[in-house]
Amino acid sequence: MSPFSAILQVLFPTTCACCGDVLVRGERQVCLRCLSDMATTHFSPMNDNTMERRLMGLMPLEHATATYLFRQGGAVRKAVHAMKFHGNAELCLMMGRQMGLDLLASGRFDDVDVLVPVPLHWLRRLQRGYNQSELLCRGMAEVMGRPVCKDAVVRHRYTHQQSLQHESQRASNVAGAFRLRKADRIRGKHVLLVDDVVTTGATIASCANTIAEAEGVRISVAAFSMAQ
Ligand SMILES: [Zn+2]
Repeated sequence: MSPFSAILQVLFPTTCACCGDVLVRGERQVCLRCLSDMATTHFSPMNDNTMERRLMGLMPLEHATATYLFRQGGAVRKAVHAMKFHGNAELCLMMGRQMGLDLLASGRFDDVDVLVPVPLHWLRRLQRGYNQSELLCRGMAEVMGRPVCKDAVVRHRYTHQQSLQHESQRASNVAGAFRLRKADRIRGKHVLLVDDVVTTGATIASCANTIAEAEGVRISVAAFSMAQ
């Protein structure tokens, strides 16, 4: 470390987005200990994986995967929290690149044409300053070389934070929450729908069913994480 960067490190320490420890040289956003604590699912190359079984029957589906397992108190949960509520856009991009590598290595998502983030309501996007799923897409796009389309579908209903709700309220809460805006952007294409966390699958299925209104689309799903 140069004397200048050593001084910078003391004055403006960069800390791990998950545990808050000061990052050492070579670490970015998340420390190596937290990175190794992030449980990977190994779903991507697997047909009929847990994610596919969760979504099957809720929406028309080609393939689905989630790169990490979301556990209470775990490093993945902390990373999601940092992406969603702490304004950590750089972390979103970095985790998107991880997802992209995971999908590329599986070979099951090679014929995807376009990446579509699950949209936020405009008011929530304004509050947060960005859509974390859109940034995940941008990170994935760097690795996968596919375009990101963020205006094909919009969320026209402002819904309350899912995590604060009872399981049974989720489905009714998000039914009809999305609307097709620019169907021509996705018509006839294989769409990869991207979100940060999939829990019951109600939100992503509602969004997917709206996308399915566009003629000739096929839909796959990639989530950063899946709650058990
Ligand atoms: Zn850490």
